[in-house]
Amino acid sequence: MALLTKAPRGTMDTLPSESYRLRHIENALSETAGCFGFREIRTPVFEHTELFMRGVGETTDVVQKEMYTFNDNGNRSISLRPEGTAGCVRAFLEHGLFNEPLPQKYFYLTSCYRYEKPQAGRLREFHQFGVESLGTGSPAADAEIISLARQIFDFFELNDISLEINSIGCPECRKNYHAALINYFNSKKDELCETCLSRLERNPMRILDCKSPVCSAIAEGAPVVLDFLCEECDTHFKNVRKHLDAMDIEYTVNPQIVRGLDYYTKTVFEFVSTSIGAQGTVCGGGRYDGLIKELGGNALPACGFGMGIERLIMLIDAQRKSLPEEQRIQLYIAPATPEYSFEAMRIINDLRYEGISALTDLGERSLKAQMKYANKKNVMFTLVLGEDEIKSHKASVKNMDTGEITEISLDTFTEDFMHVSINAALGGIGMGSLQDFTLINGGKQ
Ligand code: ATP
Ligand code: MG
Repeated sequence: MALLTKAPRGTMDTLPSESYRLRHIENALSETAGCFGFREIRTPVFEHTELFMRGVGETTDVVQKEMYTFNDNGNRSISLRPEGTAGCVRAFLEHGLFNEPLPQKYFYLTSCYRYEKPQAGRLREFHQFGVESLGTGSPAADAEIISLARQIFDFFELNDISLEINSIGCPECRKNYHAALINYFNSKKDELCETCLSRLERNPMRILDCKSPVCSAIAEGAPVVLDFLCEECDTHFKNVRKHLDAMDIEYTVNPQIVRGLDYYTKTVFEFVSTSIGAQGTVCGGGRYDGLIKELGGNALPACGFGMGIERLIMLIDAQRKSLPEEQRIQLYIAPATPEYSFEAMRIINDLRYEGISALTDLGERSLKAQMKYANKKNVMFTLVLGEDEIKSHKASVKNMDTGEITEISLDTFTEDFMHVSINAALGGIGMGSLQDFTLINGGKQ
């Protein structure tokens, strides 16, 4: 029975008391992305497992340990998406979007699924805001997505988020680097953890990403990838930095960053904060010039990032940044007895067509119970509808904040109520106009 009323471990509900904050954040993210020319893409929550094995990489922790994989009734191996890039690239190829003007720039707000040990900032279902710039190898594209992430943090006035960048080169420079790494780690073989031992031959760079204190201490003395970059990768990285300098975006070069997914080449970066504990990486991304070809397309370069929404919210909360208040319900109409509920419903139905939020009783409750409910809901105005009001075609609207009462006609109720509402918002000064109402009511008339 307990299973019925308990959500699976590592998942979270967003209740109405929180969802308006989330919506505000999501709007800010998509509007900022829009300013940079990124357009929204939505892809399925599940894909063929093969896509992630190829795209994310078979040797990664994500694919080896963290994926939700199952056979569907048609006996196909299906996985819930652990990240957003592979699905985007699959859609880009499937719909021939490489024939459109390049780069194609997409953003997404999606849920992701990873079977990880749940803790603060680490969930099994989490959400990502991500961008992908497909079909450009220019260092300006790397700098552009970094500047987009920076603008988002600035929009929420967040501080203590540092940008760390690195270049992990192309497969050519990595050949020599891998050899140097294997050589180095071989000399420390006895101290490495078991997982890292298995990484040694297959994917030695992954050892640099190991969270165990012993391995990370060893990793500190490892050869640095930047010393192995070929000329092209070196110039690319210099130009990314030049762009960041030109935009006054601060960063530190951290040669330890390798990222957890296999598809990265050249630039990799993370935005890290110390305000939210151990899970301090809020955003991670980089260039993945080999992925589109790996997934069956032409060799087209690309870059992108993923930002954890839950971690972003943790930062906003940790730094006590305020978000807008939830909009209040404007009017509650209380039928004095159930027979007036028909007229009450008619009036609020008209109001709602005009974008005015309004409620009435849905439970044949007493007037007293209704008023208690309206108070708890923190509505701005209330109105009681009874025999007198229906006979006289007039009703008294009460401002619940000031106690002020205004009598308005039931025949022209919607328009009259708009004026009362504007006046209240303007602090009772002058007669409000419908234009003011549009402003106050968020553009909805
Ligand atoms: P971490 O090092 O924290 O495990 P990662 O390298 O696995 O992160 P990415 O795959 O690059 O992360 O995902 C991008 C972003 O998504 C991360 O920077 C983080 O903000 C967020 N994220 C990743 N995994 C989780 C998770 N399990 N729960 C919540 N957010 C997550
Ligand atoms: Mg991870």
